[in-house]
Amino acid sequence: MESYDIIIIGAGPAGLAAGIYAGRQGTSTLILEKGPAGGLGLEVPMMENYPGYEMIAGMSLINETKKQVLKTTPLHEREEVESVKSDNGSFIIKTINDQYHARALIFSTGSKHRTLDVPGEIKLLGRGVCYCATCDGPLFAGKKVYMVGGGNSAAQEAIFLKNIGCDVTLIHRRDELRAEKYLQEMLKEKKIDIIWDTVVEEVKGDQFVEFLVLKNLKTSIVTEVPAQGIFISVGDTPINQLAKKLGVKLDEQGYIITDKSQRTNIPQVYAAGDITGGYKQWIVACSEGAVAAMAAYEDLQK
Ligand code: NAP
Repeated sequence: MESYDIIIIGAGPAGLAAGIYAGRQGTSTLILEKGPAGGLGLEVPMMENYPGYEMIAGMSLINETKKQVLKTTPLHEREEVESVKSDNGSFIIKTINDQYHARALIFSTGSKHRTLDVPGEIKLLGRGVCYCATCDGPLFAGKKVYMVGGGNSAAQEAIFLKNIGCDVTLIHRRDELRAEKYLQEMLKEKKIDIIWDTVVEEVKGDQFVEFLVLKNLKTSIVTEVPAQGIFISVGDTPINQLAKKLGVKLDEQGYIITDKSQRTNIPQVYAAGDITGGYKQWIVACSEGAVAAMAAYEDLQK
C-alpha cells in the first residue's frame, strides 16, 4: 500500500492550492479526484475578481493551476475515493483502483448542484435540462432557453448564454436578485428579461424539453411557456459523505466545521473550499487550501 504524509480528496481550486503548498513544503502528497480536476470551477464562464487576471475563464485557471501542482504533487484524476477509515492516528483511503495510507487528510470535496425536484427535470436531463451553461450552452445558440435562479451563478451564466447567442430569460422566485450589483447591472445592459416571483413547476417534453410550467407565487397564476432549454442554477449542496462517515463534525447545513487553521474536530483532518460553506469564492477556496496544507505540515512535524 502506498503511503503519503497528506492525501487531499478533491481537486477543485481548494484541493489544487493545497497540493501546491503541500508539495512545496516537502510533504509527500497525493491528490485524488473522482472526475477531471477543477470541480465546479470548470463551469465558471468568466471571472473578474481573481487577483492578477482582469478576466479569466474557470477552465483556463484550472489548467494553469494543474501544471503548477504537477511540478511537485501527483494528481490522480478519475480515481474516486470509496471510503476513508481511521487507523491508529492515521488513515486508510480506499479508492476504486487502490488503497492508500495517509498521516493527514484534507477534504476539499466541494459541493454539487442543487436540483429543483420538479416533474420532468430528471427525465429530460441532458435533453434540454442543464446545470452548466459553460458546458452545454453552445448547443443552444439561437434557441429559447430559461435560466432559473437569482444568485451570482445564475446571473453570470445568463450573461454567458446571451453572449453566445441564446435567447435567454431569467426566472427568479422573488422580486429581487441575490446576485452582486455589478452582475445585476450587466443583466440590464444585456437586456436579459427577468420573470419575477415565479417558480418552475414542471418541465414538459417527449424526447426533449418543449415547455415549462411556471407559477407566479404572488398571483398563483400558472402558465406554460415554450422552451428548448432550461438551465438550473439554484445553489449547491456539500459533498460530505466521506467526511461524515469518518466522524468529521458538520454544521446543520452539512458543511464541515473548521477552526481558522482549517482543522476539523479530528486530529490531522482538515477541510478547505466550498465543503466548509461560507463565502464560495475561488480566492477563498485557494486560501483555505493553502492554510490547510500549512496546518497539516505543522501538525505532522510535532
Ligand atoms: P446562491 O447564491 O445560493 O443562489 C441560489 C439562488 O437560487 C437564489 O437566488 C435562490 O433564491 C434560488 N433558489 C434556491 N432554491 C431554489 C428553488 N428550489 N427554486 C427556485 N430558486 C431557487 O447560489 P449560486 O449562485 O450557485 O452561488 C453559490 C455560491 O457561489 C454563493 O456563495 C455565490 O456568492 C458564489 N459565487 C460567486 C461568484 C462570484 O463571481 N463572486 C460567482 C458564482 C458563485 P433566493 O434568492 O430566493 O434564496
